[in-house]
Amino acid sequence: MEEAKPTGLRGQLGELCYNSGLLGSLQRMRSWWRRDLRILAYHRIMPLPDPATYDFDLELISAPPERFRQQMLLLKRRFCPMRLSDVAAMLDAGEELPADAVVITFDDGYDDNYRIAFPILRELDIPATFFVSTGHIDTGEPYAYDWLVHMILLTDASRLVLPELGMDQPMPADRPARRKLAGNVLDRMKNISALDQAAMIERLAREWRIAPDAVYQDCRPMNWDQLREMSHAGFEIGSHGVHHWMLSKLPAAELAQEIMGSREALLRELGPHPLLLSYPVGSNRSYDERVIAMAKSADFQLACSYISGTNPQPSHNRYALLRLAVERDMSLGWFASTLTLPSLMSYSTPDYLGKQVGTSACSP
Ligand SMILES: [Zn+2]
Repeated sequence: MEEAKPTGLRGQLGELCYNSGLLGSLQRMRSWWRRDLRILAYHRIMPLPDPATYDFDLELISAPPERFRQQMLLLKRRFCPMRLSDVAAMLDAGEELPADAVVITFDDGYDDNYRIAFPILRELDIPATFFVSTGHIDTGEPYAYDWLVHMILLTDASRLVLPELGMDQPMPADRPARRKLAGNVLDRMKNISALDQAAMIERLAREWRIAPDAVYQDCRPMNWDQLREMSHAGFEIGSHGVHHWMLSKLPAAELAQEIMGSREALLRELGPHPLLLSYPVGSNRSYDERVIAMAKSADFQLACSYISGTNPQPSHNRYALLRLAVERDMSLGWFASTLTLPSLMSYSTPDYLGKQVGTSACSP
């Protein structure tokens, strides 16, 4: 098994708690006084690639297959995995959720969700929700943020010129520095409008002649046949918008199209099913009251952010549910400790608006 070796303080503390054998007792004690809904947020499940030859965003990899399996076995042993639509039904009925309730979610819709995560979840009989950007499922085109990282890693341009972001600098020669630069560009671009982001990525693809028309095995969305198979097997498929655009950074017409268009695509392809939503990007600069109102008016039952935390009273924030991100450097011990002691062990969330918003890095 590819085991992560946590180097940060939280990871080491998590390992220590796990190895102490005290987590079980701590969890029982905690569930007496705090009954909160934990929602795990995954992106990709795939073998950890060699960063020197992998041409896409490493930050989207949540766990390699065997570690994901171990995480799911731990959940099955110690927690109460639930379907998100069952959570919504219990909230509607005013019922209290079971102690140690946990929901497993995936964002974006990469095909490793079907090839790797789905068989493991089905074998272990653990429910999960897969939030997909329906435009990418329709076209098979790679996700734009991942494509941007790909282009910055591979371009032979000597300078990175992004007037949209006030950036003009030499392109670093080595790959780790290019990855860092790509992360910086991703973070900065999330301040500009979603349509300007899309136009900037399209411009670079044109200028650098790296058009996202090829099908890359490392960067492929699922297709509707795969999603139908997962849906028939009892897994939930939810909306992550159409184009993976930041909903709060869209004009009204485009916002409506992202929410209503993804809803219609899901109903058209999968038939009637519970409507669940996860905001693309999911930080506190990616959704607002206008977005929440649109989600409600489109009959979505609840919606997930990517802000770190658990949900003590999910009926109060059912359109802005907090989640716990799972990242590729998270060992099994850190994972277990994050679930038992989330406020201590989880990743913290950058606060982009100067508000107090829970405590996780916002990934694409
Ligand atoms: Zn996403």
